[in-house]
Amino acid sequence: MKLIDGKALAAKMQAELKVRVEKLKTFGIVPGLIVILVGENPASQIYVRNKERQATAIGMKSSVLRLPEEIEEVELLNLIETLNNDDTWHGILVQLPLPAHISEEKVLLAITPEKDVDGFHPMNMGRLWSGNPLMIPSTPAGIMEMLREYHVELSGKRAVVVGRSNIVGKPMAQLLMMADATVTIAHSRTKNLSELTRQADILVVAIGQDRFIGRNDVKEGAVVIDVGMNRDENGKLHGDVDFEQVKDIASLITPVPGGVGPMTITMLMEQTLRAAERKLK
Ligand code: NDP
Repeated sequence: MKLIDGKALAAKMQAELKVRVEKLKTFGIVPGLIVILVGENPASQIYVRNKERQATAIGMKSSVLRLPEEIEEVELLNLIETLNNDDTWHGILVQLPLPAHISEEKVLLAITPEKDVDGFHPMNMGRLWSGNPLMIPSTPAGIMEMLREYHVELSGKRAVVVGRSNIVGKPMAQLLMMADATVTIAHSRTKNLSELTRQADILVVAIGQDRFIGRNDVKEGAVVIDVGMNRDENGKLHGDVDFEQVKDIASLITPVPGGVGPMTITMLMEQTLRAAERKLK
């Protein structure tokens, strides 16, 4: 077994991004990411702080707009419209989840696709599925970078993605298909899941179920990507894959923490930078 070190790859990429940021600055463009946070969700506060910190660390401009929980939907939509037209910001991100009185769909639709660094706008999802992506959701984008870095051959391989969310499972499946893998998407209603996952050369698990995938669910020599982030009663982080059981079966495996997680924010920065670089062209 070999470990896929997401932390090390993220650090390497950040150094590369820093160079690209500096280069862009010589043309008078400072790439900027603005994050909108509504309410006081503690997990969201941490995510948002990490995003701002990493953006600043690579020399980008970054700001967090902290808005009160009771903000009206129309006010938020107006604010997004203002930011759409503000050239200082190349990426706009609204931290999810939103309070119940605000429609997530309306908010995602309001962000102009060119600045939608999360890649959740239906236009960006559609472009990805039609094979002409503009913005790609960060988590699957980061996984593709890891597979590239570790020279995992995808063409003609059997990939199984467990989980079909819009932010991980679906875009992941499409990216693997674009790389010529033969892809199966599994979910909570899939019958005989284990039979399916055992056929995978590349297995990506994004279900949010603590250590769900065990020894008997993985083929010898498979590449296993664990997206899950589950906290146990002691606050310890675990993946969707039982690392201890699977590590000696897999040829390559991502740990949790230190695997997929660190790459996600880095890819968000990469997308923002790319959006800013497009201004140059
Ligand atoms: P969602 O809850 O949106 O989706 C979970 C998916 O898993 C659904 O498609 C669901 O099926 C499927 N599923 C749930 N239980 C089972 C099961 N027992 N067997 C098969 N499929 C199952 O989650 P996300 O995609 O947003 O996130 C998944 C995990 O990844 C979470 O732990 C999350 O914290 C983590 N995550 C980590 C990130 C990172 O940067 N490391 C980023 C994003 C997420 P159905 O559709 O039928 O309900």
